[in-house]
Amino acid sequence: MVAKVKKVGLPPLNVAESLYVTELVRGLITTNRHFWRNWFRRKDTATLEYPDKRRPYSARWRGLHRLMLRENGTPRCVACMMCSTHCPAGCITIVAREHPDPAIEKVPASFEIDLLKCIFCGFCEEACPCDAIRVDSGVHAPPVYGRDEAIIDLEDLLSRGSQSTAKQGGRNL
Ligand code: SF4
Ligand code: SF4
Repeated sequence: MVAKVKKVGLPPLNVAESLYVTELVRGLITTNRHFWRNWFRRKDTATLEYPDKRRPYSARWRGLHRLMLRENGTPRCVACMMCSTHCPAGCITIVAREHPDPAIEKVPASFEIDLLKCIFCGFCEEACPCDAIRVDSGVHAPPVYGRDEAIIDLEDLLSRGSQSTAKQGGRNL
């Protein structure tokens, strides 16, 4: 089927408009009007004096990841790989080791996230059955000079962690 195309012609210009001088002056008047109005009525200005003033983020905003802790301060993560399996960017790398407590089975020996690949979708948080990983830190990914600096490790992830009392995998482990 051939799409119908409606051709719209340019509106005709009168003599004053075709000289562009009046249009130029009109444009400058509009620019000046906005400039002086913003200057004297700062409360109406949409911009913020960043970084002195910052707009609060929505509670749903996703920032740097953090690994949550049990009540005894140890990581809640049981290295089940659900987050890395569901991560669409394939940026989570976990190496598991045995947990000293036989009731818990596994704990991550290393846990790395490549922030240059991460798209901050939050799927890792949703896939985790243990409330062990969250993206609610409210912290931006920092600027880096090299790819290796963009990889956050277990220590960094735990440094932003806090205690969670959610039931671990549906059970109180
Ligand atoms: S936020 Fe999304 S892309 Fe980033 S690590 Fe989690 S699942 Fe992967
Ligand atoms: S899904 Fe949760 S418990 Fe499983 S490896 Fe990821 S962070 Fe750890």
